[in-house]
Amino acid sequence: MRKKNSQIYFKTEEEVEAIRESCLIVSKALALVASLIKPGVTGEELDKKAEELIRDHKAVPGFKGYGDFPATLCISINEGVVHGIPSKKEFKDGDVVSVDCGSYLNEFYGDAAYTFALGEVPQETMELLSVTKTSLYKGIENAVHGKRIGDIGFAIQSYCEKEHSYGVVRDLVGHGIGKNLHEAPEVPNYGRRGQGFLMKEGLVIAIEPMINMGVRNVVLANDGWTIITKDKLPSAHYEHTVVVRKNKAEILSNHDFLEKEIKNNSEINEILLKN
Ligand code: MG
Ligand code: MG
Repeated sequence: MRKKNSQIYFKTEEEVEAIRESCLIVSKALALVASLIKPGVTGEELDKKAEELIRDHKAVPGFKGYGDFPATLCISINEGVVHGIPSKKEFKDGDVVSVDCGSYLNEFYGDAAYTFALGEVPQETMELLSVTKTSLYKGIENAVHGKRIGDIGFAIQSYCEKEHSYGVVRDLVGHGIGKNLHEAPEVPNYGRRGQGFLMKEGLVIAIEPMINMGVRNVVLANDGWTIITKDKLPSAHYEHTVVVRKNKAEILSNHDFLEKEIKNNSEINEILLKN
Protein backbone atom coordinates (compact mmCIF):
# COMPACT_ATOMS: atom_id res chain seq x y z
CA MET A 1 0.00 0.00 0.00
CA ARG A 2 0.99 3.56 -0.32
CA LYS A 3 2.15 5.79 2.50
CA LYS A 4 5.80 5.36 3.28
CA ASN A 5 7.95 6.63 6.06
CA SER A 6 11.55 7.02 4.92
CA GLN A 7 13.06 6.98 8.41
CA ILE A 8 14.57 3.65 9.50
CA TYR A 9 13.85 2.78 13.13
CA PHE A 10 15.65 0.11 15.10
CA LYS A 11 13.30 -1.16 17.77
CA THR A 12 13.97 -1.54 21.47
CA GLU A 13 13.08 -4.88 23.06
CA GLU A 14 9.95 -3.27 24.48
CA GLU A 15 8.90 -2.17 21.05
CA VAL A 16 9.62 -5.62 19.63
CA GLU A 17 7.33 -7.07 22.29
CA ALA A 18 4.59 -4.62 21.33
CA ILE A 19 4.91 -5.66 17.68
CA ARG A 20 4.84 -9.31 18.74
CA GLU A 21 1.56 -8.68 20.62
CA SER A 22 0.06 -7.03 17.56
CA CYS A 23 1.27 -9.90 15.36
CA LEU A 24 -0.29 -12.41 17.74
CA ILE A 25 -3.69 -10.93 17.03
CA VAL A 26 -3.04 -11.12 13.29
CA SER A 27 -2.04 -14.75 13.69
CA LYS A 28 -5.23 -15.51 15.59
CA ALA A 29 -7.31 -13.76 12.94
CA LEU A 30 -5.64 -15.80 10.20
CA ALA A 31 -6.28 -18.96 12.21
CA LEU A 32 -9.94 -18.01 12.43
CA VAL A 33 -9.95 -17.54 8.66
CA ALA A 34 -8.34 -20.98 8.26
CA SER A 35 -11.09 -22.55 10.34
CA LEU A 36 -13.89 -20.91 8.34
CA ILE A 37 -12.68 -20.73 4.76
CA LYS A 38 -14.16 -23.23 2.29
CA PRO A 39 -16.05 -23.21 -1.01
CA GLY A 40 -19.36 -21.34 -0.60
CA VAL A 41 -18.03 -18.91 2.03
CA THR A 42 -17.53 -15.26 1.02
CA GLY A 43 -14.68 -12.88 1.64
CA GLU A 44 -17.07 -10.48 3.33
CA GLU A 45 -18.02 -13.13 5.88
CA LEU A 46 -14.37 -13.79 6.71
CA ASP A 47 -13.65 -10.09 6.90
CA LYS A 48 -16.42 -9.50 9.43
CA LYS A 49 -15.22 -12.36 11.66
CA ALA A 50 -11.60 -11.20 11.48
CA GLU A 51 -12.57 -7.65 12.40
CA GLU A 52 -14.59 -8.88 15.39
CA LEU A 53 -11.66 -10.96 16.61
CA ILE A 54 -9.24 -8.05 16.30
CA ARG A 55 -11.57 -5.66 18.11
CA ASP A 56 -12.28 -8.28 20.82
CA HIS A 57 -8.54 -8.14 21.52
CA LYS A 58 -8.77 -4.35 21.94
CA ALA A 59 -6.85 -3.82 18.72
CA VAL A 60 -7.80 -2.09 15.49
CA PRO A 61 -7.68 -3.58 11.99
CA GLY A 62 -4.40 -2.36 10.52
CA PHE A 63 -5.53 -2.00 6.91
CA LYS A 64 -9.02 -0.59 7.29
CA GLY A 65 -8.88 3.08 6.35
CA TYR A 66 -5.20 2.81 5.41
CA GLY A 67 -4.99 4.65 2.09
CA ASP A 68 -8.80 4.34 2.08
CA PHE A 69 -8.71 0.54 1.99
CA PRO A 70 -12.23 -0.45 3.08
CA ALA A 71 -11.71 -3.76 4.90
CA THR A 72 -9.85 -5.68 7.60
CA LEU A 73 -8.50 -8.36 5.30
CA CYS A 74 -7.03 -8.16 1.83
CA ILE A 75 -8.43 -11.18 0.01
CA SER A 76 -6.95 -11.92 -3.40
CA ILE A 77 -8.23 -14.92 -5.34
CA ASN A 78 -6.39 -16.95 -8.01
CA GLU A 79 -4.85 -14.32 -10.36
CA GLY A 80 -5.22 -11.81 -7.50
CA VAL A 81 -1.78 -11.04 -6.10
CA VAL A 82 -2.56 -8.65 -3.24
CA HIS A 83 -4.92 -5.88 -2.10
CA GLY A 84 -8.17 -7.62 -3.07
CA ILE A 85 -11.30 -6.31 -1.38
CA PRO A 86 -13.44 -8.92 0.43
CA SER A 87 -16.64 -9.36 -1.56
CA LYS A 88 -19.98 -11.14 -1.58
CA LYS A 89 -18.66 -13.59 -4.16
CA GLU A 90 -18.53 -17.16 -2.89
CA PHE A 91 -15.23 -19.00 -3.00
CA LYS A 92 -15.22 -21.96 -5.38
CA ASP A 93 -13.69 -25.39 -5.18
CA GLY A 94 -10.20 -25.07 -6.66
CA ASP A 95 -9.66 -21.43 -5.67
CA VAL A 96 -6.41 -20.29 -4.16
CA VAL A 97 -7.12 -17.45 -1.76
CA SER A 98 -4.45 -15.11 -0.41
CA VAL A 99 -5.44 -13.50 2.87
CA ASP A 100 -3.39 -10.63 4.25
CA CYS A 101 -4.14 -9.19 7.69
CA GLY A 102 -2.84 -6.28 9.74
CA SER A 103 -3.47 -5.23 13.30
CA TYR A 104 -2.73 -2.09 15.29
CA LEU A 105 -2.33 -2.42 19.05
CA ASN A 106 -0.61 -0.14 21.55
CA GLU A 107 0.76 2.04 18.74
CA PHE A 108 2.37 -0.85 16.82
CA TYR A 109 1.40 -2.74 13.72
CA GLY A 110 1.59 -6.46 12.95
CA ASP A 111 1.31 -7.89 9.44
CA ALA A 112 1.12 -11.43 8.03
CA ALA A 113 -0.39 -13.27 5.08
CA TYR A 114 -1.13 -16.79 3.90
CA THR A 115 -2.44 -18.35 0.69
CA PHE A 116 -5.05 -21.06 1.18
CA ALA A 117 -5.90 -23.82 -1.32
CA LEU A 118 -9.59 -24.77 -1.42
CA GLY A 119 -10.65 -28.23 -2.49
CA GLU A 120 -9.38 -29.68 -5.75
CA VAL A 121 -6.50 -27.39 -6.64
CA PRO A 122 -4.33 -28.45 -9.61
CA GLN A 123 -1.02 -29.98 -8.61
CA GLU A 124 0.94 -27.29 -10.44
CA THR A 125 -0.81 -24.61 -8.40
CA MET A 126 -0.13 -26.48 -5.17
CA GLU A 127 3.51 -26.50 -6.24
CA LEU A 128 3.44 -22.70 -6.67
CA LEU A 129 2.07 -22.30 -3.14
CA SER A 130 4.62 -24.68 -1.69
CA VAL A 131 7.53 -22.95 -3.41
CA THR A 132 6.30 -19.49 -2.42
CA LYS A 133 5.88 -20.49 1.22
CA THR A 134 9.32 -22.10 1.23
CA SER A 135 10.82 -18.95 -0.32
CA LEU A 136 9.48 -16.90 2.60
CA TYR A 137 11.59 -18.95 4.99
CA LYS A 138 14.60 -18.73 2.68
CA GLY A 139 14.21 -14.97 2.87
CA ILE A 140 13.87 -15.04 6.64
CA GLU A 141 17.10 -17.05 6.95
CA ASN A 142 18.86 -14.02 5.54
CA ALA A 143 17.31 -11.43 7.85
CA VAL A 144 20.27 -11.42 10.19
CA HIS A 145 22.54 -8.78 11.68
CA GLY A 146 25.36 -7.91 9.29
CA LYS A 147 23.62 -9.05 6.12
CA ARG A 148 22.03 -6.71 3.62
CA ILE A 149 18.47 -6.36 2.36
CA GLY A 150 19.61 -7.63 -1.05
CA ASP A 151 20.54 -10.95 0.54
CA ILE A 152 16.87 -11.54 1.38
CA GLY A 153 15.68 -10.71 -2.13
CA PHE A 154 18.46 -12.73 -3.70
CA ALA A 155 17.49 -15.83 -1.72
CA ILE A 156 13.83 -15.52 -2.70
CA GLN A 157 14.45 -14.61 -6.32
CA SER A 158 17.05 -17.25 -7.06
CA TYR A 159 14.88 -19.97 -5.54
CA CYS A 160 11.62 -18.95 -7.24
CA GLU A 161 12.92 -17.64 -10.54
CA LYS A 162 16.01 -19.72 -11.26
CA GLU A 163 15.06 -23.00 -9.62
CA HIS A 164 11.33 -22.94 -10.38
CA SER A 165 10.87 -20.50 -13.29
CA TYR A 166 8.14 -18.51 -11.56
CA GLY A 167 7.58 -14.77 -11.87
CA VAL A 168 8.78 -12.71 -8.92
CA VAL A 169 6.61 -9.61 -8.61
CA ARG A 170 8.72 -6.45 -8.81
CA ASP A 171 6.06 -3.78 -8.34
CA LEU A 172 5.29 -4.64 -4.72
CA VAL A 173 7.75 -5.27 -1.92
CA GLY A 174 8.06 -6.09 1.77
CA HIS A 175 8.75 -3.30 4.23
CA GLY A 176 9.88 -2.14 7.63
CA ILE A 177 7.07 -2.10 10.18
CA GLY A 178 6.50 -0.58 13.58
CA LYS A 179 4.57 2.53 14.49
CA ASN A 180 3.86 2.76 10.78
CA LEU A 181 2.47 -0.08 8.73
CA HIS A 182 4.99 0.64 6.00
CA GLU A 183 8.37 1.95 7.05
CA ALA A 184 11.75 2.00 5.38
CA PRO A 185 13.56 0.00 4.29
CA GLU A 186 11.77 -1.59 1.38
CA VAL A 187 12.31 -5.35 1.27
CA PRO A 188 12.13 -6.48 -2.37
CA ASN A 189 11.72 -10.14 -3.26
CA TYR A 190 14.53 -9.76 -5.78
CA GLY A 191 18.01 -8.41 -5.38
CA ARG A 192 21.71 -8.90 -5.35
CA ARG A 193 23.70 -10.58 -2.68
CA GLY A 194 25.58 -8.12 -0.48
CA GLN A 195 23.67 -5.09 -1.82
CA GLY A 196 21.29 -2.69 -0.16
CA PHE A 197 20.67 -1.59 3.39
CA LEU A 198 22.86 -3.14 6.08
CA MET A 199 20.62 -4.88 8.60
CA LYS A 200 21.21 -4.58 12.30
CA GLU A 201 19.64 -6.21 15.32
CA GLY A 202 16.30 -4.60 16.17
CA LEU A 203 15.24 -3.91 12.59
CA VAL A 204 11.70 -5.21 12.20
CA ILE A 205 10.58 -6.05 8.67
CA ALA A 206 7.70 -7.75 6.92
CA ILE A 207 9.02 -10.25 4.37
CA GLU A 208 6.36 -11.13 1.81
CA PRO A 209 7.17 -12.96 -1.41
CA MET A 210 4.50 -12.48 -4.09
CA ILE A 211 5.19 -15.16 -6.67
CA ASN A 212 3.37 -15.76 -9.97
CA MET A 213 2.95 -19.02 -11.85
CA GLY A 214 3.60 -17.16 -15.12
CA VAL A 215 4.99 -13.74 -15.90
CA ARG A 216 6.09 -11.40 -13.14
CA ASN A 217 4.03 -8.51 -14.50
CA VAL A 218 0.98 -7.32 -12.64
CA VAL A 219 -1.85 -4.90 -13.42
CA LEU A 220 -4.52 -3.10 -11.43
CA ALA A 221 -7.94 -4.74 -11.68
CA ASN A 222 -11.09 -2.79 -12.58
CA ASP A 223 -12.09 -2.49 -8.91
CA GLY A 224 -9.22 -0.02 -8.52
CA TRP A 225 -7.61 -2.04 -5.71
CA THR A 226 -6.79 -5.62 -6.56
CA ILE A 227 -3.40 -6.25 -8.10
CA ILE A 228 -3.71 -9.17 -10.54
CA THR A 229 -1.28 -11.05 -12.73
CA LYS A 230 -1.05 -9.74 -16.27
CA ASP A 231 -1.41 -13.23 -17.76
CA LYS A 232 -4.23 -14.14 -15.30
CA LEU A 233 -2.29 -17.16 -14.05
CA PRO A 234 -2.38 -17.78 -10.28
CA SER A 235 -0.23 -16.00 -7.73
CA ALA A 236 0.74 -16.82 -4.15
CA HIS A 237 1.64 -14.65 -1.16
CA TYR A 238 3.05 -15.57 2.24
CA GLU A 239 4.19 -13.04 4.82
CA HIS A 240 5.77 -12.88 8.25
CA THR A 241 6.83 -9.97 10.42
CA VAL A 242 10.33 -10.68 11.74
CA VAL A 243 12.95 -8.99 13.88
CA VAL A 244 16.57 -9.08 12.78
CA ARG A 245 18.80 -10.77 15.37
CA LYS A 246 22.48 -11.64 15.60
CA ASN A 247 22.43 -15.20 14.28
CA LYS A 248 18.87 -15.94 13.27
CA ALA A 249 15.83 -13.78 12.63
CA GLU A 250 13.03 -14.14 15.10
CA ILE A 251 9.57 -14.54 13.56
CA LEU A 252 7.06 -12.36 15.41
CA SER A 253 3.95 -13.45 13.54
CA ASN A 254 2.92 -17.08 13.79
CA HIS A 255 1.47 -19.43 11.22
CA ASP A 256 1.31 -22.37 13.64
CA PHE A 257 -2.20 -21.48 14.75
CA LEU A 258 -3.58 -21.34 11.25
CA GLU A 259 -1.75 -24.47 10.17
CA LYS A 260 -3.37 -26.35 13.04
CA GLU A 261 -6.75 -25.15 11.80
CA ILE A 262 -5.91 -26.24 8.25
CA LYS A 263 -5.38 -29.79 9.55
CA ASN A 264 -8.90 -29.67 11.05
CA ASN A 265 -10.55 -28.16 7.97
CA SER A 266 -11.13 -30.94 5.46
CA GLU A 267 -12.06 -28.51 2.68
CA ILE A 268 -8.66 -26.87 2.44
CA ASN A 269 -5.24 -28.32 1.72
CA GLU A 270 -2.05 -28.26 3.72
CA ILE A 271 0.74 -26.32 2.06
CA LEU A 272 3.90 -28.27 2.68
CA LEU A 273 7.38 -26.79 2.70
CA LYS A 274 9.80 -28.18 0.17
CA ASN A 275 13.06 -29.60 1.37
MG1 MG B 1 0.50 -7.98 4.77
MG1 MG C 1 3.12 -6.32 4.48
